[in-house]
Amino acid sequence: MLKGRDLASFRKQLLDWFYQFRRDLPWRRTKDPYRIWISEIMLQQTRVAAVIPYYERFLARFPDMRALAEAPEEEVLRYWSGLGYYSRARNLQKAAQLIVAHHAGEFPREATDVLALPGIGNYTAAAILSIAFGAKRAVLDGNVARVLARLGAIRGDLRESRRWRALQETAGKLLVPETPGDWNQAMMELGAMVCMPRAPQCLLCPVAKFCRARISGDPESFPEKRKNREVVQIVLAAAVFFTPRGETLFLPPPRKTQHKPADDDVATLVSRMWHFPTVAIRKNAYTELESFLAHLLPSRKGTLPLEPLKRVRHAVTYRNVTVLPFRITVAKIPRVRGARSIRLEDFSMLAVSNLTRKIAKAALSPSSAAASKPPKR
Ligand code: SF4
Repeated sequence: MLKGRDLASFRKQLLDWFYQFRRDLPWRRTKDPYRIWISEIMLQQTRVAAVIPYYERFLARFPDMRALAEAPEEEVLRYWSGLGYYSRARNLQKAAQLIVAHHAGEFPREATDVLALPGIGNYTAAAILSIAFGAKRAVLDGNVARVLARLGAIRGDLRESRRWRALQETAGKLLVPETPGDWNQAMMELGAMVCMPRAPQCLLCPVAKFCRARISGDPESFPEKRKNREVVQIVLAAAVFFTPRGETLFLPPPRKTQHKPADDDVATLVSRMWHFPTVAIRKNAYTELESFLAHLLPSRKGTLPLEPLKRVRHAVTYRNVTVLPFRITVAKIPRVRGARSIRLEDFSMLAVSNLTRKIAKAALSPSSAAASKPPKR
C-alpha cells in the first residue's frame, strides 16, 4: 500500500494523465445525478461506443426523473431495446418511481437511500455519489479490481469476499478526497484504456513505476483467471407468420414467475418482451413447433406449413442459443389473446430483445429461405 510521498506522486500522475487524455463522453459533461445514473446503468456490461447513441436517445425521450417514472414500461423497454440485460431498464424505472414517491423526484444524496433502490449496488452508488455530489466513496468493479491487483501483484480469486473487501479498502485509501469523482473516473479510465484485461499498455501507463505486476515481467497474468461456467447449448424453434401484406404475429411479454427458470426457458431468453411464438426444442424442431402451435392455435391444428429460414445464433452469458425460425405463410394473422399483428419490417415499434431482433432480421433477409438447410424432420 502506497504512503506519504509515493501516494501523493501516484495520485498526481494518474490525475494529470486523466485530465490530459480522458475521453470526451456525453455523461462527463454533466453533474446531473439523473444523467450520471442513466449512464452508469447503461455502461454495466455494455461497451461505451454502444451506449452513446442509446444514452442520447433515452435522455431525449426521458429527460428527467418524472418523465421516466411516468412513462409506460413498454416504452422504456423500447428505448432500451438492443442494449440487452433488460432487467436494468425495468429496475431503472422502478427506482425512478420510488425516487418520485419518496424523494420528491430528486436523486437521493445519502448512500443508504441510494443503495435501497433496485438495480444499484455499491459500485454504482459510489460512482453516482462521487461524480454528482463529490462524496468520498471509492468505486470498485472488475476493471478497478484488475488495476489494483496488478499494482499490488495480488494473486488469487479477486471476487473471494475477504480479498474483495481488502481491495475495497485499498481503493478507499487511494481515493483523492478533494476530487473523488475525478479520481474514480481516472481509475476506471486507466482500466478501460491502458490496463486492459489483455495486453496492458505498460509503456503508456502513467503509474507504471508503482506497479509490481509490471516488475514481475508478466502483468497480464494478474489477476488469475476465474473458471468460466460451462457453456450450455440451447435450441429453439420460432414461428414467423407472414401474410401477403407483410404482417406477422408477436406474442406479448411473458409474465414473471416465482420459480427459478430452466436454462432454456423461453420467457427468459426473450427477456420477457414481445416475441415470435417460440418453443425450446429437445429432439425435433418440426414436431415440437407443430405441437406448440396446435396448442396456441387449436383451430389451425395441422394446417400451418412450416418453411425453414436461415438459423440464428445468439449467446447470452453461458448459453449458446441456436434458433430455427420457420416462415408460416397465411392469408390472415390468426387471433391470439394479447398478441399483436404488425408488419414484420416494423418490429422495432415493439419492445423486443436482441434475440427476437435477430430472428426478425433473418426472416426479412431475401436470402434467408434459399440459404437455409432444413432441420431434420
Ligand atoms: Fe496495468 Fe501495466 Fe500500468 Fe501495471 S504498469 S497498472 S499492468 S498498465
